[in-house]
Amino acid sequence: MNLKDKVVIVTGGARGLGEAFARGIVREGGRVVIGDLLDVEGSAVAKDLGPDALFLHLDVTDADNWERVVAQTEEHFGRLDGLVNNAGVTASGTPVVDEPLDSFQRIIQLNLVSVHTGMHFAVPAMRRAGGGSIVNISSAAGLIGLALTSGYGAAKWGVRGLTKVAAVELGRERIRVNSVHPGMVLTPMTASIGLVPDEGAFPNNPYRRVGKPEELVGAVTYLLSDAASYTTGAELAVDGGWTAGPTVEYVMGQ
Ligand code: NAD
Repeated sequence: MNLKDKVVIVTGGARGLGEAFARGIVREGGRVVIGDLLDVEGSAVAKDLGPDALFLHLDVTDADNWERVVAQTEEHFGRLDGLVNNAGVTASGTPVVDEPLDSFQRIIQLNLVSVHTGMHFAVPAMRRAGGGSIVNISSAAGLIGLALTSGYGAAKWGVRGLTKVAAVELGRERIRVNSVHPGMVLTPMTASIGLVPDEGAFPNNPYRRVGKPEELVGAVTYLLSDAASYTTGAELAVDGGWTAGPTVEYVMGQ
């Protein structure tokens, strides 16, 4: 999973999963641009990672921001090889019919439209680099219908579909596009909705526990690396078996 000399933009890299991805990329020998709204937290992570990391303010819903971040990445590191579209907001927690119209649209804008905007600006830079790898962070909610996630689920299913369209269009240009589908992982996002790390606290998967951000890193660094040179249009669930099917306890009634 060597990422030597690869330059990767990670959106939402100031905390949570994105921070873990940024740290993993540098650990594997790559260089990372952390794009986030959180200037203080993002700068601190980049400072901690040293000269192989750069923080740039990025609102993923803003096309001008994207254009500037891609240009500054090429200016600073000389190329762009990878993009991890990770920034996102959580579900509203309301039933489909009750989700306010503006909330639904805001979630689609942030969790789906921004992924397209990111690819729109990053792909020309990857073409200049002779190829690249895009990893779109979807969710288990993009593989199954999860109650109370209407805007979020629709966006994450959309990310999964958009990934496949981009994969078939960009394959001949040596640009690979794959999606990763985390299950429940303990981050500031999920802590804010009351998720706890305790064993047994999450009965929906066979491990009966939530994941740690570090447990997602290998999937992302693998897809960014040349070890995944024949992998495009794939969807990789990293969810402790949650979407594989109901747990034994559920099926056997134990
Ligand atoms: P988090 O809230 O802890 O971190 C998200 C990061 O995205 C933050 O740093 C935030 O500032 C940034 N961000 C939000 N809006 C932004 C914007 N407009 N522009 C730029 N940055 C922005 O969340 P997380 O749990 O680390 O989630 C990361 C990704 O993983 C999200 O796409 C989420 O949907 C997905 N995911 C998370 C889980 C989980 O259980 N944590 C499960 C499935 C999928």
